[in-house]
Amino acid sequence: MAFNIAIDGPAGAGKSTIAKTLAKQMNYVYVDTGAMYRAMAYYFLNQGIAADDEASIAAAVDGADVTIRYENDAQQVYLNGENITGYLRTEEVGNMASSTSVYPIVRKKLVALQQKLAKTTDVIMDGRDIGTCVLPNAQVKIYLTASVQTRAKRRYDELITKGETADLEQIAADIEERDYRDMHRDASPLKQAEDAVLVDSSEMNIEEVVAAITAIVKEKQV
Ligand code: C5P
Repeated sequence: MAFNIAIDGPAGAGKSTIAKTLAKQMNYVYVDTGAMYRAMAYYFLNQGIAADDEASIAAAVDGADVTIRYENDAQQVYLNGENITGYLRTEEVGNMASSTSVYPIVRKKLVALQQKLAKTTDVIMDGRDIGTCVLPNAQVKIYLTASVQTRAKRRYDELITKGETADLEQIAADIEERDYRDMHRDASPLKQAEDAVLVDSSEMNIEEVVAAITAIVKEKQV
């Protein structure tokens, strides 16, 4: 049976950085489920569909064929045969993903894809509902979080380093809004699974978080 590690938590908690590092260290496949919701969102945006138009979204879902491939150890997301990985990390796509991931029809399609990937492969999968819904039998479940201030400051520093302009207050407000939506939707809201281990990275650097999670994984592997 494949060994599955589930990492859930709010936006900006460092899930993908940590999961990528761990996957490399352990020779596991890293599955970024947020990128799949972003791929669907990118499709809806290109179709000119509004986030609150549930009927049009339901009608469009079957037209989006999302597939995942691994090239040079990195996850690549294909939409109807085209590699769209480079278009997915914008604020526009992120906000659309947060709004359209509330629809059960969108989730059903992507959860099936995620479960298929984890069935035969050792994976570290990150998202919002991995430990609670996608992989309820995962051998390791982590809930990785950090304060809104810490997450906003990390995002702010990232943008400034890239030479972009950024407004710390605005970033914090966006994070709070996205947290609220992810935690209060009806379909698979973000919450800590009962058997997940809580890791609060507010006062930790990347190395410390990786070390903490590696220790949790080792405990479960014996
Ligand atoms: O993690 P990322 O910011 O890329 O995710 C984008 C959006 O996709 C999140 O705000 C969340 O609403 C949604 N998502 C989800 N379930 C997941 C992963 C992401 O609902 N497993």
